[in-house]
Amino acid sequence: MAQLIEQLISAVGKAAVITDPRDAAPYATDWRKRYFGKPLAVVKPGSTAEVAAVVRLCAASGTGIVPQGGNTGLCGGATPDAGGGQIVLKLSRLNRIRAIDPVNNTITVEAGCVLANLQQAAVAAGRLFPLSLAAEGSCEIGGNLSTNAGGTAVLRYGNARDLVLGLEVVLPDGQIWNGLRALRKDNTGYDLKQLFVGAEGTLGIITAAVLKLYPRPSARTTALVALASPAKALDFLSHMQDACGDRVTGFELMSAFCLLLVARHFPATRLPLKEDYPQYVLLELSDTASAENLDAALQGALAKAAERGLILDAAVAASGAQAAALWALRENIPEAQVLEGQQIKHDISVPISSIAEYIAVTGAELQRAFPGVRMVTFGHLGDGNLHYNIAPPEHADENAFMARASEVSRVVHDSAARFGGSISAEHGLGQYKREEILRYKSPLEMDLMRRIKAALDPQGIMNPGKVL
Ligand SMILES: Cc1cc2nc3c(=O)[nH]c(=O)nc-3n(C[C@H](O)[C@H](O)[C@H](O)COP(=O)(O)OP(=O)(O)OC[C@H]3O[C@@H](n4cnc5c(N)ncnc54)[C@H](O)[C@@H]3O)c2cc1C
Repeated sequence: MAQLIEQLISAVGKAAVITDPRDAAPYATDWRKRYFGKPLAVVKPGSTAEVAAVVRLCAASGTGIVPQGGNTGLCGGATPDAGGGQIVLKLSRLNRIRAIDPVNNTITVEAGCVLANLQQAAVAAGRLFPLSLAAEGSCEIGGNLSTNAGGTAVLRYGNARDLVLGLEVVLPDGQIWNGLRALRKDNTGYDLKQLFVGAEGTLGIITAAVLKLYPRPSARTTALVALASPAKALDFLSHMQDACGDRVTGFELMSAFCLLLVARHFPATRLPLKEDYPQYVLLELSDTASAENLDAALQGALAKAAERGLILDAAVAASGAQAAALWALRENIPEAQVLEGQQIKHDISVPISSIAEYIAVTGAELQRAFPGVRMVTFGHLGDGNLHYNIAPPEHADENAFMARASEVSRVVHDSAARFGGSISAEHGLGQYKREEILRYKSPLEMDLMRRIKAALDPQGIMNPGKVL
């Protein structure tokens, strides 16, 4: 081990290898503080060549490599085990924008580029990079691609997977695959880049990517809409898409309980509607045409929705600050949950048309099995993706409730499976759902995944114990 540390230092420099456990601690646990690892070292290469050198050394010594970007993942995918034999490979120093081509509408970036910085670089070139999520100030594009991140703009622009045209990857034997193609059409065999997207670092290390850019909307309008039920929200989604087409770029469902938690834990919160309602949708429209057109389209569509009895009330943001305040309602939900106490978190998806029935059926089943539980239901309704989180009954013993977490999750996940859904819509499997997925994917599908893993990483050094 001492020899490997010496070799790593000669490959990347002394300052880029952390071995003191106190200094390594922030890299050894996950965002939710659910997993605590003990890395042999945290290694911070500064270039693709250095990444490849580190991987070759690890391959030669059979050392496990845990890639880490911004460390905001929610399934423990970037946390090493507690055995003290794995290295954390921190990609954050690979943070350059290599090229922007506004005519081709592409940007070439290194894996450690923070998502918000990448968005800014696109704006500076008069373009939009649409991937957007609450962790965008810390998560990195390599992590986004490796988890196939979703976020709030999937409805219009797709997941991270849909935004990638090319990748540069360091393979588990240290070879560098340069697949940095900037092509929208390329039917020359298997689409290898897509193997690495969503692989959570188990097949190789993404070091750079060519990503799609879009025209930058010149107008954006945001509204908080009150509704009677998730079923009405679904009808409202169809109504808005019929009326405004792909100008509907955000459609986030939030139950009344979610907003109550935000108001409780963020005292500056001001709800713009006078009354309380059972459900809310945060709606965003954007367009490259004029703001007046967009406002008129929104107002017209809202008026018709009210006439048809789809919505109960709505508040439209009159300024950028008001729009940001509306988005804060949605984005503060995860933090408000943490401040409220322990909850059992889920990230399920079902076909969009089944969402309302899923919520009704699963909620009833949970109330029968665990009377008094409180559902913190919010998410990307337009993508069929819910963060269907369960808080203990008011005044219940939190720890006793959390001890039954797997029973609660079984109800939630089995129900999603009955609706043809997924137990991980956008957060991945990591170590958190590695065992759980075995119940829901067929043995054949698991076998195919294992065969791909064995073909690319026969030594099993890439992020051991994650996904598979
Ligand atoms: C407040 C909050 C809100 C969030 N909202 C969303 C949301 O709306 N949608 C969503 O999808 N996710 C969301 N997430 C989850 C998280 O932000 C995403 O999964 C994000 O894509 C992770 O990026 P990261 O750089 O932090 O990756 P990390 O956490 O560092 O790593 C995630 C996984 O990718 C692997 N990895 C990282 N970099 C590389 C690389 N260069 N090559 C190979 N493997 C690599 C790691 O080994 C790990 O398995 C949220 C998280 C938080 C804390």
